[in-house]
Amino acid sequence: MTDETEADMTGITPRRRPKPDIEEIGGRKLQPSTLMMGHGYDPMLSEGSLKPPIFATSTFVFPNAAAGKRHFEGVTGIRPGGSEGLVYSRFNGPNQEILEDRLGVWEEAEEALAFSSGMSAIATLFLAHTNPGDTIIHSGPLYAATETLIGRVMGKFGANWLDFPAAASQDEMEAVMRKAADGRVALIYLESPANPTNVLVDIEAVVAARDAVFGKNEGPPIAIDNTFLGPLWQKPLRHGADIVVYSLTKYAGGHSDLVAGGVLGSKKMLDPIRAMRNIIGTICDPNTAWMLSRSLETLELRMTRAGENAAKVCEYLRNHPKVEKVGYLGFLKDDAQADIYRRHCTGAGSTFSLYLKGGEKEAFAFLDALKIAKLAVSLGGTETLASAPAAMTHISVPEERKKALAITPNLVRISIGVEDADDLLADFEAALDAI
Ligand SMILES: *Cc1c(COP(=O)(O)O)cnc(C)c1O
Repeated sequence: MTDETEADMTGITPRRRPKPDIEEIGGRKLQPSTLMMGHGYDPMLSEGSLKPPIFATSTFVFPNAAAGKRHFEGVTGIRPGGSEGLVYSRFNGPNQEILEDRLGVWEEAEEALAFSSGMSAIATLFLAHTNPGDTIIHSGPLYAATETLIGRVMGKFGANWLDFPAAASQDEMEAVMRKAADGRVALIYLESPANPTNVLVDIEAVVAARDAVFGKNEGPPIAIDNTFLGPLWQKPLRHGADIVVYSLTKYAGGHSDLVAGGVLGSKKMLDPIRAMRNIIGTICDPNTAWMLSRSLETLELRMTRAGENAAKVCEYLRNHPKVEKVGYLGFLKDDAQADIYRRHCTGAGSTFSLYLKGGEKEAFAFLDALKIAKLAVSLGGTETLASAPAAMTHISVPEERKKALAITPNLVRISIGVEDADDLLADFEAALDAI
């Protein structure tokens, strides 16, 4: 075993460093699905263990007192550039660092941060970027907890909000942004596709609208929740978004056995979010980070299979006499939405809306008859899930808004998993017969 001990630039922090990652071979840039197996981890720093051990520790030993001081100067921001090593597990740990390195690979993000849930990632982002009196401009609808966070929680601290519909044109976005342009706008926050309407937001139009209203390089950052299509089928940083947010609980975790979140972007955008995370401790734990590194090894396989399954299931459902409509990104009729899809997306995902003919009675009969698909909320797991938003996730949404968002009693939300496609078709056929 070679000795990788080396002194850092200051000479006071001898730290065993991992071998540099191999990111290309013979001029060929390696793909994320390849890099997930080893990126960011050097087995020789862990007794040769092929897989990263789970580092269950709350704190890290400094080689000497001067190194400890230098670490804290970095963590607290007294010295710019951040921490150069591990200090205390509320800030970071080896498993979380491996996860963050690998998360960033998928969207070619400069940096990534791991969180204890999607909501703690979003809350930390808002806390880091918002001051009292600021306005948060967002697309609507958003994930219900995110809307509550913006309206009720951030509102308590003096932040205001304005929204535009997810399908808004650039002109409509500009009109909303102008209303807030007198004061400070903290953030433009998007979710695409919107939940549960599946409406896509035109990220490039948001960028153009922001630059037109606030001036190029003068406007607020654009953040986007990419949980439904990322990281495989939509890469918003390429289209001008500054910050990408994930509930890693969904496709990234992919086995419905953990809760976690992520934020991706440039170091400049993420530095304040990291500093806020250091203060409030919204990082995920080492075990969850380890599970996620394992999940990322099969991310492309899982998402590809789920996407193929969903295409087959939706094709079957759209032609069934008991089905009113299938809200699936593969079947976009609206020209503007189809145009956004062509520019922003490389796949239609595996989460969609099924409108049955009838009402709650028919939806419940269908849900109760499913045998393979499980009756549960959430999405992006290996198993197919189905639920009734009007009676479950969105039960407390006022009737008017439910109508506006087409959250009707006959709506069933489905997330397709990686089962055998023909078995799924048999399950849906039998459940439709049972109505
Ligand atoms: C699930 C979800 C969240 C919240 O994530 P948690 O991991 O449950 O905290 C946020 N946004 C979207 C789009 C989601 O689906």
